[in-house]
Amino acid sequence: MRAAVLHEIGQEKLEVLDDVEAVGFGPGKVRVRVRATGLCHSDLSAMSGVLPQPAPFVPGHEGAGDILEVGEGVRHLKPGDRVVLCWLPACGACPACKRGQTQLCLAGFMNAGTPNFRRPGGDLFGFAGTGTFAEEVVVDAGCAVPIPQDVPFDIAALIGCGVTTGLGAALNTADVEAGSSVAVIGCGGVGISAVQGARLKGAAEIVAVDPVASRRESALRFGATKAVSPEELAGAKQEITAGEGFDYVFEVVGRSATARTAYENTRRGGTLVVVGAGAMDDFLQLNMFELFFDEKRILPSMYGGGDVLRSYERTIALWRAGRIDLAGLITHRVPLAEINEALDQMRTGAALRTCIEI
Ligand SMILES: [Zn+2]
Ligand SMILES: [Zn+2]
Repeated sequence: MRAAVLHEIGQEKLEVLDDVEAVGFGPGKVRVRVRATGLCHSDLSAMSGVLPQPAPFVPGHEGAGDILEVGEGVRHLKPGDRVVLCWLPACGACPACKRGQTQLCLAGFMNAGTPNFRRPGGDLFGFAGTGTFAEEVVVDAGCAVPIPQDVPFDIAALIGCGVTTGLGAALNTADVEAGSSVAVIGCGGVGISAVQGARLKGAAEIVAVDPVASRRESALRFGATKAVSPEELAGAKQEITAGEGFDYVFEVVGRSATARTAYENTRRGGTLVVVGAGAMDDFLQLNMFELFFDEKRILPSMYGGGDVLRSYERTIALWRAGRIDLAGLITHRVPLAEINEALDQMRTGAALRTCIEI
């Protein structure tokens, strides 16, 4: 079958190959025909080496498809079921799961050293244990979450990562208070989802911050009350908060420089929510006086910071009721053969989300 492969970390282009096989099917596993996958910024970060990932590998972790085959012992799925692929499955048994913090379950990472694909040239890994830039994947049954048949594949794919991450940051992690002021730094698919979450919670002011003009325009359509470039943020802070800083600032870039900017634009006693996935050698500097004296809360948010399955259900309910716009997040579509165009659309900031149809 066909898959897009990165041969070495640091390469910019993927090679679409026809000789790839999804491996590892057996008890407790399912074989999934991927139908749609979104391109998430973390795919680029894994390709460039910012996020740790063995190579060669098939990127992609935000996907949806149909069940082709279920392994022995799999009871909650059958062939033909529509599923979201979850790259962070919950085992249900570890201390984090028992506490209800299933987003912190490490069970899904235990197979990180096991190849997910094979081709005549050798073994391949799947990014984050999935690798959705492929026609087929084999995953643990817990990674395939059944959803209603009327949720389109492209919408379902977004729920697999970006929307769950951004919406959850506002609804679960920050639990934004009605009437508050919010700034969201970084307005791709995840940042726009945080904007929608803040709007749902009744934030009075939502300032979208992004260097790309088209993203700023998009943010206004999704509920931002103002959209500014990074250079204009200081002015917006002055105008909206009288210089005090925002009640909540979401960092959706994953860099220490933007996290520092976010910290400085958070009011004393306010909340900085760190959503972006950054590098292990990129350090955020805070001095001990400001940390203590300004009492700003720093809340990291991993995959929406809440129970993943409940988050999926909630997102589908909000989408069905027309309270959030998911179709509008998909600004570009390409077939798998043109995956490198999708990468370029992401790098230039032209796309909120590119849906790759498989
Ligand atoms: Zn667990
Ligand atoms: Zn992602």
